[in-house]
Amino acid sequence: MSCKEEKIVQKMFMENVPICCEVCGGKLKHIGDGIYKCQNCEHKELDDFGKVKAFLRDNGMAAAYDIHLATGVAMQEIEFFLKEGRLEIPEGSKFYIKCEKCGCALRYGRYCNDCALQLKLGLMDAFESIGEKPKYTLNVKDKKGKMYTYEDENKKDQ
Ligand SMILES: [Zn+2]
Ligand SMILES: [Zn+2]
Repeated sequence: MSCKEEKIVQKMFMENVPICCEVCGGKLKHIGDGIYKCQNCEHKELDDFGKVKAFLRDNGMAAAYDIHLATGVAMQEIEFFLKEGRLEIPEGSKFYIKCEKCGCALRYGRYCNDCALQLKLGLMDAFESIGEKPKYTLNVKDKKGKMYTYEDENKKDQ
């Protein structure tokens, strides 16, 4: 993701941050993890980050595309949260993001340790982007595994 793209994603995110309570119109206060609580009626709302977090908490890790389908949060935003390290893919997940240089699996961040060192030795920028490699990776090819469950649940509700 280039700097310009990152700005677009940040703007996208800011536009989706809830400000007023949907129930009573009261003022919302961020109480952490993308959750906002109404200071008037205690109603809670989520921003895009909160939606992704809540989805992962309830469903376990899924591919970014599946999270996008389930939450309506843009793919670029999900990728951005992971690369920024705001979200971490848990150990033992079927899905990881890739190091932007060598393509190895990462739980979060932009580059693996090795690549970050090779790339910009001494530059803080690279170090902020260092992710963590999972301790082990599963060799699973069924990319849609999680999503089927969600769709089935969705159909039941309708
Ligand atoms: Zn309210
Ligand atoms: Zn790498």
